[in-house]
Order: sequence, then structure tokens, then C-alpha cells
Amino acid sequence: MYRLRRLAVRHARAFEWVYVRFEAALVALDPLFRRIGYHRLERPVAAVERLTKGLLFDCRMCGQCVLSSTGMSCPMNCPKTLRNGPCGGVRPGGFCEVDPQMRCVWVMAWEGAARMRDGARIGDVQPPVDRSLQGSSSWLRVAREKAAHPAGPPDAPRATIACAFPQARAHEPAAAPLAVEPRPADRGPRR
Ligand code: SF4
Repeated sequence: MYRLRRLAVRHARAFEWVYVRFEAALVALDPLFRRIGYHRLERPVAAVERLTKGLLFDCRMCGQCVLSSTGMSCPMNCPKTLRNGPCGGVRPGGFCEVDPQMRCVWVMAWEGAARMRDGARIGDVQPPVDRSLQGSSSWLRVAREKAAHPAGPPDAPRATIACAFPQARAHEPAAAPLAVEPRPADRGPRR
């Protein structure tokens, strides 16, 4: 599995090419998925996704796939499940601090992104993992969400970070290039 994972990163450009077309097909199938019912498709599609992506990327079925933003290196294989870059413990040669036999998934992500046409997306800030989506199909989520918002949600990941860590902008403006924070009225009720 690890060897296949490394192979996927080495051929990140080809996987990106395939994924762009696969995603377009998924979105085009949204009307059909709606007729069948997304809830009915969830189990069989998730099973196929688990099999194929498990084989190719060591996918952990987080339900919020970011492979196309991380050089085809799955960040959930990081022992610390870091979604926004490596920790400070990367060993010489780019090996993992926790598992010295494994290359850091973020070093691999950087290498994969450098090969991709849209590799700059590795700079996108990812929101925290929503554990309630564990085991669900990212493919169906992409079809449903991209069909509903063809231009993409309005900067959702960055807005999420901005909501969660408003102090980050004040203290580390260069290290935390957040999008414009939502207006207080848009943030919902305070708890
Ligand atoms: S990011 Fe999530 S869905 Fe994508 S390969 Fe990794 S565990 Fe699987």
C-alpha cells in the first residue's frame, strides 16, 4: 500500500488529469443521483470508493477528500492527521517523526503538488476534519455540493478557520493569511 501511495504522488499529474474528468462526470450525474436518492447510493458508492482509494492512496475515508489539494498524498496518513502542513518534527530526508520508516505525508504532498497543474491549491487552508463524516463518500459529497454551487462555496474553508481562530489574524497576519472574516451578523448566535 505504501508503495502504491508513493507511486500516486510520483504520478500526481496523471491522477489530477483523471480526477478533473471524474469529478465533472460525478457532477453531471447529479440529476440521476437525485432521482435514485443520495441516501440509497451512499453505501455502495462508499464501498467502491473505500476499495479503490484505499488501494491507491491508503484512504481512511474521512469523507472530505483533499487529495487534489495535497499532491495526491492523503493527509489522514499523517500519524497526527495534520491537514495543513507538517509538524515541526520532520526528520532529515523528509521522514516522519512518529514513524521513521515512512516519509512525511506533507513532504510527499509538496512533491506531488509541484508536479500538478493546479498544485498551488496546496496553499489553501483546510478546515478541521468533521469526524461525523467519517466513512461517508467524498465522491457523492462532491457531486451534490458542486452541482448546488458550481462556482464553489463562498470561501468556506477560510471562513471556517477565521471563525474558529479570529485571534490568529491579529497575532500572525503573515502566517495566517485568512480571508475576510464573516461579519458578526453572519456568524450565528454566540454561545
Ligand atoms: S483525504 Fe480523506 S477521503 Fe481523501 S484519500 Fe484521504 S482519507 Fe480518503
